[in-house]
Amino acid sequence: MSEEKSVSRRTFVGGVAAAAGVLGFMPGANLFAMPLAMRDTGLNRERAALDELSDYDGYAKISFNENPYGPPESVLKAMTKAFKYSNRYGYPDGGIVEEIAKAHGVKPENILLTAGSGEVLDVVGTTFTRDGMKKVLGSEPSYSQVYEHVVGVKSEAVKLPLTADYRQDIPALIKAAHDHAKDLGFVYLCNPNNPTGRIVTKAEIKQLLDGLPPAMPVLIDEAYHHFVNNADYATSIPYVLEGRPVIVARTFSKIAALAGMRLGFAIASKEFVNKMRPWSMGSISAVVKWGGVAALADTDSQARVKKVTIDLREQTMAQLNKWGYETIKSDTNFFMVSLKKPVVPVIEAFKKKGVLVGRPFPPMNTHLRVSIGTPDEMARFQAAWKEIMGTASAGSGNGK
Ligand code: PLP
Repeated sequence: MSEEKSVSRRTFVGGVAAAAGVLGFMPGANLFAMPLAMRDTGLNRERAALDELSDYDGYAKISFNENPYGPPESVLKAMTKAFKYSNRYGYPDGGIVEEIAKAHGVKPENILLTAGSGEVLDVVGTTFTRDGMKKVLGSEPSYSQVYEHVVGVKSEAVKLPLTADYRQDIPALIKAAHDHAKDLGFVYLCNPNNPTGRIVTKAEIKQLLDGLPPAMPVLIDEAYHHFVNNADYATSIPYVLEGRPVIVARTFSKIAALAGMRLGFAIASKEFVNKMRPWSMGSISAVVKWGGVAALADTDSQARVKKVTIDLREQTMAQLNKWGYETIKSDTNFFMVSLKKPVVPVIEAFKKKGVLVGRPFPPMNTHLRVSIGTPDEMARFQAAWKEIMGTASAGSGNGK
């Protein structure tokens, strides 16, 4: 590690400690006393419940929108080589920040490296709600970590319902942003949305950014970007370059299959990155940094994962439609199906048959979220479905 890097890292750690000290005098300071894994959120309760499964490996795991194939050989090799740096504080790092910047057409100063994109959501939540206790505005259901985090730091989430076709309601978000303008810290948009799998079109993103109060920060969570096959969709990274107050969150957990290794990043203006950095841990595993660099280079294996995932998704949805169940059109590695009955007992029934499916996403309490696993896992899902739900339900799927 060069002296310059060593000093900047120590200075930075000092910055975090200082920031945590400031927080000691603030409401919500308890957040930092509690590691994420211990926070009582729906997601963490679900993950904790998995600890009780003695034979986890034997389950079909289609509950967390993970890449079931694992990292490709190129990434495993890079991480294996990097083990020799386990005793070092993060350097050498393979040039991960520079490589991310290059791959996305931005500068290194536009990148905040995090332990998964979940950390971006927390960091944005803390950064943009703490001054004057501002709120976050978003849709429900969506990925609830942002809402749970800001509530954890004693702020509030204003959540708007989806449209009738399960899309985020852009005109309603614009109106609510103006109505709440003076207490709003930022707007959260998940694109494509988890759990519904639906995109916000590029025209709608522009409509939103043009329609919001000036300088309102917008966090656009693109965790599932790599699975989208839809000409109406585009990443929002160009808006960062345009100088809009946009923060894009990305992850290596999905297409790159590194969920357990924890790597993500934010792309934002230098000013936003500097504002957010003191609230990030700044502590990424040396091994995953090298894995991330290799993953950025291995676009071929990601294309293969995308294709097999989309094919299996369409095949599974078509089968459910044939059996008479409505599914929601998806642009991700998961989809939702309407059960026309409460989802909680159905989730339990699947678990008893060795299939872990998605958690409930209120208020969509009669929809089940199904992640796309391996062909074998999807076959097990379909076999369990036949037994639990039957195949002769009235009506036909509309795949809307
Ligand atoms: N954003 C969305 C929409 C997600 O679905 C997830 C995880 O499932 C995350 C962010 C956080 O993932 P990670 O922290 O692994 O990047």
